[in-house]
Amino acid sequence: MADPILFYEPFDEHGFLSNFYPSNILLESKVWPTSEHYYQAKKFTSPQIINAIYSAPTPEKAFELSRTYQDEVRANWEEIKWQTMDFIVREKFSQNSQLAFWLVNTGSEEIKEHSHKDSYWGDGGDGTGENHLGRILMTIRAELCTTSPYNLTRFVDVAKLPTQWGEFQMNAFVELEHDKEHLALVYGDISQVDTPLIRLHSECLTGDALFSDRCDCGYQLARALQNIVNEGAGILLYLRQEGRGIGLLNKVRAYHLQDDGADTVQANERLGFPADMRRYEFCQGMLGYLGVKQVRLMTNNPRKVKALEKAGINVIDRVSLQEGKNPHNENYLKTKASKLGICWTLLSLNRVFLIPLKRRSPLSNVRGLVFTVLYRLEEGNY
Ligand SMILES: [Zn+2]
Repeated sequence: MADPILFYEPFDEHGFLSNFYPSNILLESKVWPTSEHYYQAKKFTSPQIINAIYSAPTPEKAFELSRTYQDEVRANWEEIKWQTMDFIVREKFSQNSQLAFWLVNTGSEEIKEHSHKDSYWGDGGDGTGENHLGRILMTIRAELCTTSPYNLTRFVDVAKLPTQWGEFQMNAFVELEHDKEHLALVYGDISQVDTPLIRLHSECLTGDALFSDRCDCGYQLARALQNIVNEGAGILLYLRQEGRGIGLLNKVRAYHLQDDGADTVQANERLGFPADMRRYEFCQGMLGYLGVKQVRLMTNNPRKVKALEKAGINVIDRVSLQEGKNPHNENYLKTKASKLGICWTLLSLNRVFLIPLKRRSPLSNVRGLVFTVLYRLEEGNY
């Protein structure tokens, strides 16, 4: 069995498990700076003492104040302290979903508050303590593990990914239902951004890595990474659902059918697949782990916006992404646009085709041409 997870200092590796970890909690119409503040205040009935503890600049100070007033601790404290702790720890994780993701991510290891000062809440420093706080945390973790969105993905590890555009943090996740491996490439300090710019890019080996011009995926990927770096912070989710979810080998079969005249949707259907098998629900697990609740989504596809919103991610804005049209993928892009419902958007004038019609506008007497604007397809990697 693996070593237990020991926590104590709030800024150590598993310090978020500590009540001293800074995480605001709204209780009794007040925002408490840490769960420790609330726990210590609940020992008292005097409004002055409660307020002094509430206003303590640090959890350490809140703890000290509680010791100072120990003669005034409420008579039934011993009877209610466990419920109070259970309540506040539950509130901490239900009000701070990123912390809940982190708690779930501790897996199945035993959790212990490693404190030589406390053999009731902690392990007493020598492992003989009752570890009630660790037990409460493990109970909450077990409950969260069966609850969406905490049961969708599991974070595995993070490493640097230097690229030609800048250095990203490459976060690796497993999608639990299908055991698929996905990446979240994070650039900059997204904790400082309220609504980060993000992109959901579905894997396309031929386009992303083999320079294929049959689609526009590689171009879209490069443009999205560039845009994120230009923005200063953002996330690209690299989703391992090759070939709109049918996989690499079936994609080659579909390409063969297309070489013989089928379009991209017909080819998938002849192989017995729906036109699009991609899913996005599990992305909530990845974004939630990264602390992202609302996003600006780089896409030209309203279905992606809807899919993310259905999965609980608040899409504040849709940012279009134009890149990658070439003579080889023109028909492919047109088919996607007409059959897959991808948004055709009026772009800047240098990107649209303008076809003059030799008639006057019925709405104005101004001489000139009325332009019928053919909307140009914007997105390839959908
Ligand atoms: Zn592609």
